[in-house]
Amino acid sequence: MSTTDDVLNANQEYAQGFTAGDLPMLPARKLAAVTCMDARLHPEKFLGLELGDAHVIRNAGGRVSDDALRSLIISSHLLGTNEYVVIHHTDCGMLTFTNEHLRGKLARETKGNASHIDFLPFSDLEQSVRDDVRRINESALIPQCTRVRGSIYDVKTGRLFEVTAE
Ligand code: ZN
Repeated sequence: MSTTDDVLNANQEYAQGFTAGDLPMLPARKLAAVTCMDARLHPEKFLGLELGDAHVIRNAGGRVSDDALRSLIISSHLLGTNEYVVIHHTDCGMLTFTNEHLRGKLARETKGNASHIDFLPFSDLEQSVRDDVRRINESALIPQCTRVRGSIYDVKTGRLFEVTAE
């Protein structure tokens, strides 16, 4: 049995008690969160969100990458969200490497070419949040009325700290 078998079995149990099949597609609280894929983060829980409340867009670092921006554009223009939060976190894996480091590792260990990929690592947590909030605010494709705020989640305490613009 693999972990995949385990989670597929767990879903059978989940579906037996499932009663939320009639939720509307539009997020009830008109919120989109961009955050890290880190396994220690449970955004729905630490933000007090219920099923159907919000979009949660996750990737390595919670960066506002081109693809995260693609999701935010769809979220706002097609699905009605009007508030965004960018949430990075303490002890993030993205603080532990550079593009050069990862590209070198991939060159040694694979046949692929990663020289053109920006993996979006960062060395300053608050600055990365500010950079990503700014990236959303500067996008001409995001409605001007969208409210965008940034926070850092502390993996030791479960607490969010807001990052204010400089
Ligand atoms: Zn992370």
